[in-house]
Amino acid sequence: MTQQIMIFSDLDGTLMDHYTYKSTEALPVIKQLNAAHVPIVLTTSKTIAEVKAIQKNLHINDALIVENGAAIFLPKALFKVQPQDTISDGEYWVKSFCPPVQHWLDIIAKAPTQLSNLFKGFSSLSIAELAEITGLTEADAELAKNRHYGEPIHWTGDESSKLAFIEYLETAGATILHGGRFFHVSGESDKGRALKWLTQYYKETFQFNNISSIALGDGKNDIAMLEAADYAVQIRSPVHDFPELKKHTNVIQTNNYGPAGWAEALDQILPEPLPIQKCPSNILLN
Ligand SMILES: [Mg+2]
Repeated sequence: MTQQIMIFSDLDGTLMDHYTYKSTEALPVIKQLNAAHVPIVLTTSKTIAEVKAIQKNLHINDALIVENGAAIFLPKALFKVQPQDTISDGEYWVKSFCPPVQHWLDIIAKAPTQLSNLFKGFSSLSIAELAEITGLTEADAELAKNRHYGEPIHWTGDESSKLAFIEYLETAGATILHGGRFFHVSGESDKGRALKWLTQYYKETFQFNNISSIALGDGKNDIAMLEAADYAVQIRSPVHDFPELKKHTNVIQTNNYGPAGWAEALDQILPEPLPIQKCPSNILLN
């Protein structure tokens, strides 16, 4: 492992417990990583509005990869110079990998009429309706609703109409990602592509010869990220098996679930003692 380390971590079922959403067992390791200035990039299906609050509670302060790799949010407080190919959005520079949500809403609105009353999109649901379908509180449903790059669909029709709808969307250029209660209509982005862009950006901007990337995730939407990283950590899930990976070297499957597995794997991989890292927070701010 090279001295320069970056960590990319999924949230639900990985850094947050599948049932309690707590990160308790991982907190001492986060503290240790922060002390050594190791960047921890939360890499999630959540929206920027949802992940901001979680990041703050975890005392993590780095770039964020949101909506399953659709965009990277780089805090202006850490990255003083605007990275190429990004836009300015409040306190962040934003690099996006897929068209904005309106592009997908326009395609969904033009679906054949016999299909258009068989589903509800996130954007057409009220906060109360979304809270009821997802089990989220109304406050959390409001944050979850604020998606910038794709539209989750709650299907209420039969299976063959659903397949016809998906075929229509794919022909129109959409990529479909199947979740639990919803399927997501978005572009061709994934967490792996975002990981590669961000590690390359760090290499060029901070003149790092090499970076060892460690990715941690539990789900199918983490496969691209785990394949793209130098070290892949598959976090054990209480509700499904480890998704299959193509690569077999530098892959760890944890014994513990969620945040306990997160701590277990990093204790195993990280060099001891952990060298103090060069990173934006101590290159640009000092
Ligand atoms: Mg997960």
